[in-house]
Parts: sequence; C-alpha cells; structure tokens
Amino acid sequence: MSTDTAKKDLLRGGQFLVKETKCEDVFTPEDFNEEQRMMRDSVKEFVDREIWPHKEEFEKKNYELTEEVMRKAGELGFLGVAVPEEYDGLGMGFVSTMLVCDYISGATGSVATAFGAHTGIGTMPITLYGTEEQKKKYVPKLATGEWFGAYCLTEPDAGSDANSGKTKAVLSEDGKYYSISGQKMWISNAGFADVFIVFARIEDDKNITGFIVENDKENGISFGEEEKKLGIHSSSTRQVFFNETKVPVENMLSERGNGFKIAMNALNIGRIKLAAASLDAQRRVTDLAVKYANDRVQFKTPIAKFGAIKSKLAEMATSAYVGEAASYRAAKDIEDRINIRLENGASHSEAELKGVEEYAIECSILKVACSEDIQNCSDEGIQVYGGMGFSADTPMESAWRDARIARIYEGTNEINRMLSVGMLVKKAMKGHVDLLGPAKSVADELTGIPSMDKPDYSELFAEEKEMVAKLKKVFLMVAGSAVQKFGPGLEEHQQLLLAAADILIEIYMAESGILRAEKNAKKNGEENHKEEIAMAKLYLYHAVEIVNTKAKEGIGSFAEGDEQRMMLMGLKRFTKYQNMPNVVALRNTIAEKLTSENKYCF
Ligand SMILES: Cc1cc2nc3c(=O)[nH]c(=O)nc-3n(C[C@H](O)[C@H](O)[C@H](O)COP(=O)(O)OP(=O)(O)OC[C@H]3O[C@@H](n4cnc5c(N)ncnc54)[C@H](O)[C@@H]3O)c2cc1C
Repeated sequence: MSTDTAKKDLLRGGQFLVKETKCEDVFTPEDFNEEQRMMRDSVKEFVDREIWPHKEEFEKKNYELTEEVMRKAGELGFLGVAVPEEYDGLGMGFVSTMLVCDYISGATGSVATAFGAHTGIGTMPITLYGTEEQKKKYVPKLATGEWFGAYCLTEPDAGSDANSGKTKAVLSEDGKYYSISGQKMWISNAGFADVFIVFARIEDDKNITGFIVENDKENGISFGEEEKKLGIHSSSTRQVFFNETKVPVENMLSERGNGFKIAMNALNIGRIKLAAASLDAQRRVTDLAVKYANDRVQFKTPIAKFGAIKSKLAEMATSAYVGEAASYRAAKDIEDRINIRLENGASHSEAELKGVEEYAIECSILKVACSEDIQNCSDEGIQVYGGMGFSADTPMESAWRDARIARIYEGTNEINRMLSVGMLVKKAMKGHVDLLGPAKSVADELTGIPSMDKPDYSELFAEEKEMVAKLKKVFLMVAGSAVQKFGPGLEEHQQLLLAAADILIEIYMAESGILRAEKNAKKNGEENHKEEIAMAKLYLYHAVEIVNTKAKEGIGSFAEGDEQRMMLMGLKRFTKYQNMPNVVALRNTIAEKLTSENKYCF
C-alpha cells in the first residue's frame, strides 16, 4: 500500500455524508506528481497543436478529422492510459486516466465524445470483463488506436430503460456462434469503429448479454446516415443495424445475462470520466471570457471592470475550481480503493470494477454537477462576449452547443440524480454506510434545545465547515424522514428524490471546494490562496441557498402540521450563517485575480 493510502482515512463511497473528511486526506490537482504533470502538459500541448487550431473545421462535420486526431492520440499512448501494460497500454492509475480525459476534452466536444466512447465504454468492457484471449486479441489494438471501439446499448425503444432492448442473439444449431439481429441507435464512433460492444437478449432472458462484434459489412452490419445534431458536429453518431450477424460464442463478454451489469459498470466509469471531460472546457471558456472582457471596451471602460461582468467571471471560475476539486478527490479515492484490492490479491479488472463501483454515488454526483456547470459556464461565456458570443465565429457558440449532450448521455441527469440517492439508501439498508444512526441523532436534535454557546470561528473555514456539517443534517432529516414514510415506495416519489439528490450534490461539491482551498492555504499560507478561499466560500453560499430551497420542496411534499413545522424550523437552523458572507466582495476578489492574470489561473 502506498504510504499516503495507508495514512489516509479512506472513506467508503457515500460515507462523506456522515463522516468528516480532513483536508490532508483529499487529493487535489495541486498534488499531481511529476509523472502526472508531464502527462498533463503533453496532452495540453497535443490539444493546442492538433485540435484547437482546427476548431472551425470540427464544426463542419469533418468526421475524418476526428478519426485522424484519435489515431494520433493513439500513437502518443493517450488511448491506453488506463489499459494494463501487458495489453500495450500505459497502465497508469485512475487519477492519470482522469487527467488525460480532462485535458484532451476541452477544445471540442467532438473529440471528447470520440475519446470517451472509445476509451471508456468502447474498450473498458473488454479490459474489465474479457477473457484472457479476448483481451489479447482486442485490447492492444484498441489501446494503440489501430482499431476503434463503439458501444451499442441504446435502441429506438430502449434508452434510459436500457435493459429493455429488443436486439436478439440466437445460438446456432451447432452451438458455435450467435446470430445477432436488431437496431441500435445513437452510436458514437459508429462511422469508423472496428469493434462494437453489443448488448442483446438471448431467448427470453431477464437480462441482456454483452458481445464483442467485429465490424464487417459482409456479416449483416449496416449503418444509418450521420445524425444531424445540435452539437458535437464532428463526432460520428449513427444507427447500427445487425441482420443475422454471426458472432462466435467465444466473443460473448462475461456470462450470459451479465450484460446489464457490464453496461452499468461501464457507465459508472464513463460518468466520472464525463465529469473530467467537462473540466477543461470550463477552463478554456473561462480563460477566453476573461481575455475578451479585458479587451472589450464599452463606455470607455474594459467590460472586465463592470461589476456585472466580474460577477460572471467569478462564478465561472468558481464552478470550474470546485468541479476540479471534487473530480480529483473522487478519482484518488477510487485509485486508492483499487490499490488496496490489488494489494489484497485481486486481479486488475476485479480491483478496478469494485473500486469504481464503491464510488458509484460520487460518479453520478460528479456527472450531474460538472455537466451542468459547463452548460452554465458556456452560457455565461456567450453573455460576456455579447453579440459576438452568439456568432459561430467565436468559440463560445460551439462550446455551448457541445456542452448540451453531457446532460443526456451516460445516463440522463434525471436518471443519475435518482440513482445517486437510490444507491445511497441501498447502501444504508445493507449496512455499508450508517445513515440510520446519524439520521436518528438529527431527529433527536430537532426536538432538543439549540445550543447557545458562542462558537469559535477563528480558524480558517471553521464556520463554513460547520455549515457543511449542518447541510448534511438537512439531507439526513429530509431523506431519513422520506425513507421512514415511504419505505421502498420512495422510488415512486421522483420529485422528492430529485430534491434530495440536489442536496447531496451540493454537499459533496461544496465540501470538496473547501477542502481543496484549505489544504492549499495550510500548505502555502492563507494570503497566497485568498482567491481560492473566496471561491470555496462563494460556492458554499450558493449551496446553502439551493439546499434550503430543495429541502423546503421535499419537506412540503410529505410532511404536514407539527411535523412540517418542526422540520422547517430545523431547516432554518441548519441553513443559518452566524456571519453572512459578503458575496459581492468574494466575487470581486476572484474576478480581480482573473482579470489581472488575464486567464483562468487556478
Ligand atoms: C449524441 C449522442 C451520443 C450517444 N452515444 C451513445 C453510444 O455511444 N452508445 C449508446 O448505447 N447510447 C448512446 N447514446 C444514447 C444515450 O445514452 C441516450 O440518449 C440516453 O441514455 C437517454 O435515452 P433516450 O434518448 O432514449 O431518452 P429517454 O430514455 O426516452 O428519456 C427521455 C426523457 O425522459 C426522462 N426519463 C426516462 N426514464 C425516466 C424515468 N424512469 N424516470 C424519470 N425520467 C425518466 C429522461 O431523463 C429524459 O429527460 C447517445 C445519445 C446521443 C444523443
């Protein structure tokens, strides 16, 4: 076990809600090691050379350009970061995998999607579930970009309800192959993929089964036209038709009926990587907005000097900073969990699967938060550019359109919101995370007399950490009462689940921002990180407001009379600052740093 893993109090997935995390125990982007920094710089250099200068070309539906960039990324090893060395990958850790995904994705959503579909859902199912023969045959080609992969789960009538697909796999009489027939829809990389991970149903099985299918037009595989899309214009998206496509039995992935599990686990990894894939886009958009605001003069004044613009720049940078904090915090927890399993003798695939599965709640949280942050960030980016932001000649317009898809694929944000709370409740039921004890304490606290002690807030973030602890109590109060009231029927109360998910998301994100800023300030002095401290405080302020609104919505939906009054009083207590932050001053501090550096500088 690496020393930092050994020393750290590694929480289980979802446990952040009931346990306090020390800032020393979180990994932040400032903790990248030499190897990771070198990897980041070479990916950045690749993007600035091969992708960013051709941004306009990517908007012209130049699918060949995406394929060419992907091939070059393969030659440089970027497609194989997560693949073990024995299959011609770089065998780097989970943090490095996230890092490459982050920095390769910022210039255009077209490459981000092609990269994510190939390395994540296109390759990982074989790396994680393949037999030794399957891995030897396919993974080296995929890791080096000699071949490309695609993932065929969605069908015209099976989207969010992914296990309901109609595609059939029929075993031949001689038992040597399956014959696959069906229609898959919205398949990324379909136009240039050599291998498809295809999910199909055998007989009337409850669950679908995964297969590795090689692209061969002589074997009953055909394609629809390229879809006409709002964004990610150079990402190939087509329907794929299988008409009695023969697939050797040895190409079944894992076991019969295991396909839904494979699909979901591939998506867990895909989700956290999609969060990473939203980060560099936020940095680039913020960077451009800062530069534009400094250059653009109206009323004889650079618009960066106007409070209205300062506010936007500060908010954009804040969501990027917090998104980075939360994504790398979770990535390192996953990496540590994987390492612990490896040290206990698990195989690479077993360790990685279980490691990611453990943090599936955090993966969903991050997918939702970061995909919505890049949407808001690019929207405000357009606003900072004014009319020019609406022009296709500036990068804001395509950033905004490209961002939109992230809220839809890898499980829509509605599905991921409900999943995050659903998984947490299941973990509590199984005794993996003790929510019941803390929820009971909160219920007792509601009927008790509030402490009149004057708190000591002299330490950095003392009040903010107390606020985060109180927000956790809000979640426990709302979700705890809802579980008590509805039991397993809770899943029918979707609007309540969505409200609870928003509370959960805000807690994880706000806490991550605070821990990152605190860790840096403790290391280098508060004075050197005052803008980061301001960002952590600003994010928390919004989180408190959102939690307040969502909790009221939730409480109102199931509690009445005295019970409702008691919970609303508790909510008031749990969302009350002793010292209201000066939000305007916080934003000004952040914006002044951005505009003086003329870039996103965190
Ligand atoms: C550009 C693009 C690329 C894609 N790439 C791939 C790919 O490579 N491989 C692949 O297999 N798929 C891919 N997809 C498909 C994608 O994963 C699905 O579009 C997504 O899962 C949603 O399914 P759907 O479109 O059928 O929407 P639906 O499932 O019909 O959802 C419509 C709306 O209803 C909501 N909804 C659905 N069910 C529920 C529920 N139970 N409770 C509450 N609300 C619900 C959804 O949140 C959504 O808002 C891609 C899609 C696009 C647009």
